[in-house]
Amino acid sequence: MAKNDEEVIKQGYMVKRSQNKKIYTPVNYKQRWFVLNRKFLIYYDNDSEDKRKEKGRVDLENVHSVEAILLSSSIEENRPQGISYPFQVGYQEYNQDYALHLLASTPKERTDWILALRTICRYNKNLRTKYHTGVWNSKRWTCCRNTVRGSVGCENCTTWPFSSEEKENFTENKSLGTSQSSHIMPGGGGGGGGATPGTPSAKQKEKPAVRSKVVIALYNYKAIESGDLSLEKNAEYEVLDDNQEHWWKVRDTHGNVGFIPSNYVKEKDLIGLQQYEWYVNDMSRQRSESLLKQEDKEGCFVVRNSSTKGLYTLSLYTKVPHPHVKHYHIKQNAKGEYYLSEKHCCATIADLINYHRHNSGGLASRLKTSPCDRSVPATAGLSHDKWEIDPQELMLLEELGSGQFGVVRRGKWRGSIDVAVKMMKEGTMSEDDFIEEAKVMTKLQHTNLVQLYGVCSKNRPIFIVTEYMRHGSLLNYLRRHKQSLTSNQGLLLDMCIQICKGMAYLERHNYIHRDLAARNCLVGSENIVKVADFGLARYVLDDQYTSSGGSKFPIKWAPPEVLNYTRFSSKSDVWAYGVLMWEVFTCGEMPYGRLKNTEVVERVQKGLILEKPKTCFKEVYDIMRKCWSQLPENRPSFRVLKEQLISVAQRLLVD
Ligand code: AMP
Repeated sequence: MAKNDEEVIKQGYMVKRSQNKKIYTPVNYKQRWFVLNRKFLIYYDNDSEDKRKEKGRVDLENVHSVEAILLSSSIEENRPQGISYPFQVGYQEYNQDYALHLLASTPKERTDWILALRTICRYNKNLRTKYHTGVWNSKRWTCCRNTVRGSVGCENCTTWPFSSEEKENFTENKSLGTSQSSHIMPGGGGGGGGATPGTPSAKQKEKPAVRSKVVIALYNYKAIESGDLSLEKNAEYEVLDDNQEHWWKVRDTHGNVGFIPSNYVKEKDLIGLQQYEWYVNDMSRQRSESLLKQEDKEGCFVVRNSSTKGLYTLSLYTKVPHPHVKHYHIKQNAKGEYYLSEKHCCATIADLINYHRHNSGGLASRLKTSPCDRSVPATAGLSHDKWEIDPQELMLLEELGSGQFGVVRRGKWRGSIDVAVKMMKEGTMSEDDFIEEAKVMTKLQHTNLVQLYGVCSKNRPIFIVTEYMRHGSLLNYLRRHKQSLTSNQGLLLDMCIQICKGMAYLERHNYIHRDLAARNCLVGSENIVKVADFGLARYVLDDQYTSSGGSKFPIKWAPPEVLNYTRFSSKSDVWAYGVLMWEVFTCGEMPYGRLKNTEVVERVQKGLILEKPKTCFKEVYDIMRKCWSQLPENRPSFRVLKEQLISVAQRLLVD
């Protein structure tokens, strides 16, 4: 699956009714954790990524209807109480009809699931016009008593709403007395996306009109290269070509066409809270606190995903009685309305935020502003299909530091984009091989990886141009801020989680770092931490660095199989990650202190491991120890580590 296909669009618990039972009893209703991506609706026995077992999945291509239904209480009287908002996902597999009956806990949850599913399935070739409002039970449909299981249905499907505008049009048509609402194919309705009464013709059914993908810009983007298109935050764009993962061809509302970075836009139907400047997504409690403190404005706030999946938290800065950040869980009542104080409930989170902009309503302050000047994500390369950079377009500024390969300087590309330029000392790396690899590396894109923009390879020395990270190396950052960081275990754990997320991405792409350590991670604004220099070790020519007996070899980060057989893998990265966690929790101490490399090797071979850093939680140290299992196969993957760290953070830190 492409990266986009795997992206989780919606997830949460719902109750699922067993399929293929003749008679239904309470045991036929099970709570399952549902995960929706662009290809599948998958259900698991629980929500823990490392422990859950998949119980089944529906290939979304096969879905022909997604409808709210009725469960007959007389027949279904034993179904679970309190979870009573049923809907059905109808699909066909191997010419056999199936229906997944699901119960959402609130009407809002049900609507959200239905909309999310319909949005993905809206181009399906097999969409139907009829469905059963009841369920199949005791050899008949409870709605129309039809005894043919595969019968098309007794009720016209509702129009598939794709946006609030269309939804409103749909309601409007109904209230205008349109008795039969049809199952409109995307784009098949009358002007303005409204519903057309009546059933679609056979022709329409065979060939659904293709509705184009519309996206909304999350950030401004200034096109610099010809062929690219500028983006204006919140404006709409029609996607003309999304074949390349990172650069899409789009058309703006004035008819201009060009390439834009795909991570700067979001599909209109899936945009949710991302359109609001106050929504900061997965930002942790600790990072939101430092962001708001930095801003230092009364009533400054953000809304972020809570560490409990599916919930949101409001983080609010106040100076009364002293500067601090308060965190409030946004709750939902039985009607699906959102509230911070039960007296003021709103249909959407945006309405709730608006309400509290005008009324403190029990909060420490009225909501006033959100942090301005938020950092924008790096693009995968500086333009579409561009990885060779003209050195004339680089303005070189101050020196940032120097490392294994030579001096690193801050720079500006075409006078506007901040970059870091690594000027490679001649003879330190096999340049041709690296230049080839750079094409692949520019395509690796993740919030917690330092973005490679490209290379200047025509002249010597060659330059490696990357995203600029204003606070420099993590190792120095930890040492510089030791005092404040030691007392902020949450922030340290958050740094580890961020690095783990970046590494999980590399692991998913079968990419091995080979030199993961705090010195090779960088810190940017808003305390964001990113992994740098991944894969670079392969192109180093210096024997002292590449051979495990060499004086520059990172012995202290190497597991037994690397020391013995130079066998690198994602699992050798996991060992190094354990050492990196140790560096983080000691705020930049040298692992194994002053022990010589030979002594370290002896210790590691004997199975002796680094001691628990003084201030580190036992649960966190237990995770480090798992990274140091002698056998690579006994070490957890980064995916599992990530889940474990997040769950430790949930248990140990208040959200
Ligand atoms: P390196 O050669 O990667 O070890 O880099 C040497 C030093 O340059 C690091 O310790 C950082 O302080 C600085 N540096 C490297 N890359 C960047 C970057 N992308 N942004 C900011 N500083 C950097």
